Amino acid sequence: MDSIALISDTLATSGADEPPAARTGPATFLAALLDAGLLIPTGVQGLYGRSETFEAIADGLNAAITALGSDQHAEILRFPPAIGQADFETSEYMKSFPQLAGTVHSFCGDDRGHRRLLARLEDGDAWTDQQAFSGVVLTPAACYPVYPAMARRGPLPWQGKVVDVLSYCYRHEPSLEPTRMQLFRQREYVCLGPAERIVAFRQLWMERGLQLGKALELPVEVDVANDPFFGRGGRIVADSQRELRLKFELLIPVNDGAPPTACMSFNYHLDHFGALWGIRTDDGGTAHTGCVGFGIERLGLALLRHHGLDPARWPRGVRERLWSA
Ligand code: ATP
Ligand code: ZN
Repeated sequence: MDSIALISDTLATSGADEPPAARTGPATFLAALLDAGLLIPTGVQGLYGRSETFEAIADGLNAAITALGSDQHAEILRFPPAIGQADFETSEYMKSFPQLAGTVHSFCGDDRGHRRLLARLEDGDAWTDQQAFSGVVLTPAACYPVYPAMARRGPLPWQGKVVDVLSYCYRHEPSLEPTRMQLFRQREYVCLGPAERIVAFRQLWMERGLQLGKALELPVEVDVANDPFFGRGGRIVADSQRELRLKFELLIPVNDGAPPTACMSFNYHLDHFGALWGIRTDDGGTAHTGCVGFGIERLGLALLRHHGLDPARWPRGVRERLWSA
């Protein structure tokens, strides 16, 4: 029996009165998650395996998000968690977030190069400089592959469109907070088209995000935010992003003694990505874009934090929202 069926089966039987397991036992929330086997350590901070139960939560969240977006007539697209060098360069990611990018390097040498590589490994010496850039970069945000793909299709349909994406994303931000992973999933709805449509889309999804958070019985608040742009110049960009109210986040307290964590984000990019990639509206203008991003791991961790480490004991309404669709 798969774990979703298992959790659904227990809907009728379990009691919901015991205190959440996350609040007792191991010293930190991360330790509790590892002890319970929900996350599996790999020896690298922010890089974890997921248990069957954790994946059932992820599947439930994705199903709830799909149900919430069923009126969007979104085109479903799935990309592997990597993009090509050309699209990555067009995104200007290295200008804004060089500290987060992850590039893929491979051995491209001959027999002699291989012998050198093996000798380095044998001697316990540094060997990664024997690798060369492969032309592939790990996806930093699930919506990134969408923009070049839409631009290559030619002008958008009249009134634009919505795309549904889900991808593992990489960000080099090793951390002991379980909510800050190096590889994690973002589920997104991405809207491309005239400015008014993007503004309305973002408003709608801010309301829906709050509604979902409340239906999952989580303590949620929405606040204006900014991305972690790099360096001193980046501070100015971040300030202007806040001032123009281009990014909002849905926040939930998750980590021990830390401020609440951004679990969803609601972004309006103006015509920034439209101009970078040359995405056109049907009347030849530059498209505006926006996206709503759901952090699947962070939402799952918020549920585990607030309702306990055993989903079979979560409140009935929460379980139904995730697993009874
Ligand atoms: P933060 O400011 O906390 O680094 P962010 O606002 O930059 O996050 P976005 O770029 O808006 O994040 O990404 C969309 C969503 O992806 C976030 O709301 C969050 O739920 C999730 N997310 C972002 N970074 C991480 C991470 N390192 N680990 C797990 N989930 C993440
Ligand atoms: Zn996005």
